[in-house]
Amino acid sequence: MAKYTANDYEREFAAFLGIPHAFAFWKGRVALYAILKTLGISEGDEVILPGYTCVMNVNPIMYLGARPIYVDIDPVTYNMDASLIEARITSRTRAIIAQHTYGYPAPLDEILAIANRHQLPVLEDCCLALGARYKGRLVGTIGTAGYFSSQWNKPYTTGIGGLAITSNTELALKIEDLC
Ligand SMILES: *Cc1c(COP(=O)(O)O)cnc(C)c1O
Repeated sequence: MAKYTANDYEREFAAFLGIPHAFAFWKGRVALYAILKTLGISEGDEVILPGYTCVMNVNPIMYLGARPIYVDIDPVTYNMDASLIEARITSRTRAIIAQHTYGYPAPLDEILAIANRHQLPVLEDCCLALGARYKGRLVGTIGTAGYFSSQWNKPYTTGIGGLAITSNTELALKIEDLC
């Protein structure tokens, strides 16, 4: 039997989600780092994310010299309150992280509308949301890119691990280069 390789894993993960590109990393936070870096996020840039998050979402932003900008959550859904995002956007904003907290999809229609208005990429944090759907579509496949964790305490685990996915060919080629 042929050896099962990391490339096979990436291909099967992408196929499961119906998306062309998946890249396996050491952790979800490393997948996020790779996405942020290939988007060119650096010193002085700002990245919007929910105030109720994982420190592992904050570290990759800070390693690049960028600043995390927090948006408060909706106390009912634990997801980002989309009505509070626009007030946090500045000329230095470079991306919005849409975290699907505890596997419940963030309000993507509202988040994408704001992001499109400001021409910002939306990065879906699917670390707890593999297989979750937003209005019928699998999360991670809706924004510019998505990332997953398969750490030991996640709904799906490989012990340690993470993946980045995107349908954007240009971004995928840059992530491949970075790998
Ligand atoms: C676990 C988790 C991460 C980070 O994943 P790691 O694989 O531990 O780096 C990011 N965001 C959320 C919501 C998580 O639950």
